[in-house]
Amino acid sequence: MNTVIIDGKAIAQKIKEEVATKAKEFIRKKARRVCLAVVLVGNNPASEVYVKNKVMACSESSIKSVEYKLDKKVNKNDLLLLIEKLNSDSSVDGILIQLPLPKHLNEQEILQAVNSNKDVDGFTMINSSKLALGLDCLAPCTPSGCVELIKSTGQSIEGKHAVIVGRSNIVGKPLVQMLLAENATVTVCHSLTNDLAYHTRQADILIVAIGKKEFITGDMIKFGATVIDVGINRFEGKLYGDVEFDGASKVAGHITPVPGGVGPMTIAMLLKNTLKATKL
Ligand code: NDP
Repeated sequence: MNTVIIDGKAIAQKIKEEVATKAKEFIRKKARRVCLAVVLVGNNPASEVYVKNKVMACSESSIKSVEYKLDKKVNKNDLLLLIEKLNSDSSVDGILIQLPLPKHLNEQEILQAVNSNKDVDGFTMINSSKLALGLDCLAPCTPSGCVELIKSTGQSIEGKHAVIVGRSNIVGKPLVQMLLAENATVTVCHSLTNDLAYHTRQADILIVAIGKKEFITGDMIKFGATVIDVGINRFEGKLYGDVEFDGASKVAGHITPVPGGVGPMTIAMLLKNTLKATKL
């Protein structure tokens, strides 16, 4: 199989450059920079790396980012007050609450406090309802990035059988809506799916977001399929996807690597959403 490795880094770079051009235009017209507020609670090392990468990407795209680092024991009301302050600050275009939050905080209660017009992660009920209804909205970044990666192959999504493994609120569920909007036939699998391999082998497009290192092997993939690996699994200082890359790349037509696939696209879509939020 002449497998094409989808270069998420290069595709993300192109998007970042387009965002930078528009962000500079915004500065000329509005005499201020597009601004993203990033709220990080606690000191989860992975979250710190994600926030650092997002802040760096903002700076490369001429977007201002303001970081709010809060103690892991922060009181719920103090966090809600900060979100309220950012909601009403007209110089803040987007608000990102880095997940996961410490256990004493109710994640949904905090996420739903973000003004939907500044909800650059697309996690509020308003944005998820709009996505389900097929209305224009701020859509979740990782699934949006997956759709862009599939489109980058030049193959049409329409009529294809897309199989999503994982049904989380941030990846699997919004992907269902996005792929339906592209006229794919969608199957969703999860931890209680019987005979997972039967389903994955039917997929023209296979998207895996489960958080289990190299779980999907080559024998679970249809010859020529497009495989999008969302997983990020750290093991002995290295990053691994949810797909066993060496085996999968012998059968897939197109495949994303980890790192360098979905990860950079998530950040690129965040920048795109922040720019979009300036118009809302
Ligand atoms: P969650 O833990 O929220 O959800 C995992 C999903 O996988 C659940 O729906 C679960 O099923 C399903 N699952 C778990 N085990 C199996 C199994 N054996 N067979 C089939 N399905 C299974 O994870 P996230 O969606 O938040 O993240 C998934 C992965 O993607 C992680 O590695 C995460 O780090 C990565 N990620 C990467 C991003 C990026 O930018 N590249 C962004 C976001 C996430 P059930 O619902 O039944 O429990």
